[in-house]
Amino acid sequence: MSKVLYISSEACPFIKTGGLGDVAGSLPKALLEQAQDVRLLLPAYSEVLKNTQKTKKIAVATYYNLSVQILETCLPDSKLVVWLVDCPALFIRSGGPYMDDNGHEWHDNALRFAVFCHMAVDIALNNLQLNWRPDVVHCNDWQTGLVPALLSMKRERPATVFTIHNLAYQGLFDRQTFIDLQLPNELWQMDGLEFYDQLSFIKGGIVYADKVTTVSPNYADEILLPKYSYGLAGVLKKRHKDLSGILNGIDEMLWNPNTDNYIKKTYNQHSLNNKRTNKIKLQKELSLPIDRTIPVLGIISRLVDQKGFDIILQSLPSLITLQVQLIVLGTGDKHYEIKLAEWSQVYPEYIKVIIDFNEALAHQIEAASDIFIMPSTFEPCGLNQLYSLRYGTIPVVTPVGGLADTVTDASKENIANNTANGVVLTEHTCTALLVAIKRALSLYKKPKTWRQLQMTAMSGDFSWQTSAARYITLYQQAIEKR
Ligand code: ADP
Repeated sequence: MSKVLYISSEACPFIKTGGLGDVAGSLPKALLEQAQDVRLLLPAYSEVLKNTQKTKKIAVATYYNLSVQILETCLPDSKLVVWLVDCPALFIRSGGPYMDDNGHEWHDNALRFAVFCHMAVDIALNNLQLNWRPDVVHCNDWQTGLVPALLSMKRERPATVFTIHNLAYQGLFDRQTFIDLQLPNELWQMDGLEFYDQLSFIKGGIVYADKVTTVSPNYADEILLPKYSYGLAGVLKKRHKDLSGILNGIDEMLWNPNTDNYIKKTYNQHSLNNKRTNKIKLQKELSLPIDRTIPVLGIISRLVDQKGFDIILQSLPSLITLQVQLIVLGTGDKHYEIKLAEWSQVYPEYIKVIIDFNEALAHQIEAASDIFIMPSTFEPCGLNQLYSLRYGTIPVVTPVGGLADTVTDASKENIANNTANGVVLTEHTCTALLVAIKRALSLYKKPKTWRQLQMTAMSGDFSWQTSAARYITLYQQAIEKR
């Protein structure tokens, strides 16, 4: 058994903006189930405290003249111990974890996450008399990147693992920020935190962690290529031997059509007809024409370039001629929000767009849709295609990152050998997207084949069990390496 300090800037159900929230809310639970002694460390944002019933103050510290305390609580419906880094000046405000209500990054993000990291380091070194010294510190994304860097300077330290959930977000700040944060001078070097004269939080994780992972095997290979590396291919190649990909799992307690409390009618592989009830209910609720036979296409996503909204928008003029209904749930870049809402207003009988972050609706769309559209330009793992597979909603995806690792194209050969569970675009273009959607629609018209695709999709094992075991093996390797 290892003691694992799992550090994340978001965790479901406390707070979530994307896949990291899902993972941090489920992997630590899976590790706990596999007998690891895990603590989850999370900032005490307003929303987190709002969602927390009981907390106990267990430590205090001061960083940059700010008083910071640790509040202990549990993840709802779980025995997982959560330590909240409580610093009201930094974390109690209206808005998201990284951005204000207008979508602008918080001006003091460097300070906010530096404080978070300092607290993590002090816990890791048992400086706060918590009587708990981790063997491994598992950091996630740039917000935690200073932890491996600062720990690397200590002789007696736990092993460190750093997971990249999305290399596009690096935590870059100017040189003055490095000076203001009083970070050790030795860290300011090309093989350190410096990135073209800027301070890079993510390099702290990539350069200094004992082991580096990404959230799918394919993405671990892709980020060694300039096309996917956002300038970090060279740095990552140097860590090649310590870099690996472990596929994300899904939280079967939350994402299971057989037990999902958010949906009208639960179902499984053997009661797929019940899926239609969910379709009709959603059509009714969203004021779409009620028709159980018309194919419903779903999208749940951040509305950003990464998720392929350029080609999705280009495809809309053709899509509305195909006798389908398209439901989009998302928030993100304003121009995508506006353009999609315009289409929804002009063609309300074909396209419904909901600009919101809505967990319940996300579940209902997964259960109600026939096809899920996810033409990402890159995708570190992707969770929505996994949820779609689980819900018998056939994903249409680009062959990148975790999408390529989890979706098998409905080619004749793959259908014949029962491995097909989705439709894969040949390239990232509007034409290829339309070809793929038309291919999915023609399969939808063949009920027997469609049912087979659904059965294969739903029987895939994307639970955390296997992946959590892989992390445990990796923790051992990190401990041995250190
Ligand atoms: P990313 O982390 O890049 O956003 P993922 O597919 O890994 O993409 O994970 C996205 C997670 O966020 C999924 O759980 C998805 O259901 C959820 N999500 C994204 N947008 C919304 C939204 N508007 N409402 C509810 N859930 C959303």
